[in-house]
Amino acid sequence: MSSQSKIVTLPGDGIGPEIMDAAKALMTELGGIEWVDHDLGGVAIDNHGKALPDETLAAAKASDAVLLAAVGGPKWDSTNPDDPRPEQGLLGIRKGLDLFANLRPVKPIPALYASSPLKEERISGTDLVVVRELTGGIYFGDKSRVDDVATDICAYSVTEIERIARIAFKSARTKVTSVDKANVLETSRLWRETVVRVHQEEFADVPLDHLLVDNAAMQLVSAPSEFDVILTENLFGDILSDEAAMITGSIGMLPSASISGDGPGMFEPVHGSAPDIAGQGIANPLAMFLSTAMMLRHGLDRAADAARVESAVDSVLDGGLRTADLGGDADTASVTNAVLAAL
Ligand code: NAD
Repeated sequence: MSSQSKIVTLPGDGIGPEIMDAAKALMTELGGIEWVDHDLGGVAIDNHGKALPDETLAAAKASDAVLLAAVGGPKWDSTNPDDPRPEQGLLGIRKGLDLFANLRPVKPIPALYASSPLKEERISGTDLVVVRELTGGIYFGDKSRVDDVATDICAYSVTEIERIARIAFKSARTKVTSVDKANVLETSRLWRETVVRVHQEEFADVPLDHLLVDNAAMQLVSAPSEFDVILTENLFGDILSDEAAMITGSIGMLPSASISGDGPGMFEPVHGSAPDIAGQGIANPLAMFLSTAMMLRHGLDRAADAARVESAVDSVLDGGLRTADLGGDADTASVTNAVLAAL
């Protein structure tokens, strides 16, 4: 990566601009990143009449990475199906950048174990990543409705499975657990066969095991610390990543990365635009910081700086500083300043 990376920042709506300002302060401190703001979501509907303006997509395609805060809000809620909607911006940019892999790390922070619905002894030591295929499977297959019968086709090609499997093996630190339903579904049998072959041919040194999705759902809550990378298809990944997210108990903490083959990836918090607290300066910026860390690691090849940001976030929480969503009374600015100081 050149010394100066060029990224596109998408502040979006609600608390989006507030937490994006915090991320910009962090990037200034880290150095080596230039950004340019573009409109996406509700703000783009207001300024351009659609949620994903052509210039936003063109700039994103030409960038090294895209950093998104959040989009949406009651202002753009409408029951008229012809009205533009902020989510169209999200889906459009994911498709436009061919973001076929979604990575969601789940690593509860010891200082926040009490916020989890699970017992501390169960979640202690959990540090996993769900690697979800994002552009294939049943969500994108043909759909039909004839009389009182409906169908959704689930299709996967070998190429689609190979490329997501490679992302999972590259993300592994101790092992990959591939999740499917190979006892019932033909797509799952192709999935398993392909994952096994990619493993043998390219990543034989990474331990690999397989779980049926129903068993995986149980293991995730009974022994989450046993997982490292969970590799799975679109529908199973949608459900398992939300289940895994609940282990941490706090949505204001979770980052995500969506990546493609060679093009730029997009990095964003899992939470939405939190319209209920927008404009008050009290949003938790930590998911945004952890998303910036994912951008450093997966988008800009700066793994050491990513680890610095993650440690700074850990140490601020260890010190007891909390925004309101975590039961404290610190505001966005004081948490931001504390993380910058801890860097
Ligand atoms: P939300 O995640 O915005 O908010 C849920 C609750 O969590 C709210 O009480 C909110 O105040 C709180 N919260 C979320 N992030 C927080 C943070 N960083 N700091 C402190 N508190 C935080 O979900 P929602 O209320 O269902 O959706 C609000 C809007 O966001 C909707 O328009 C929805 O479509 C949109 N949305 C966008 C994305 C995205 O941009 N990726 C994701 C989910 C929802």
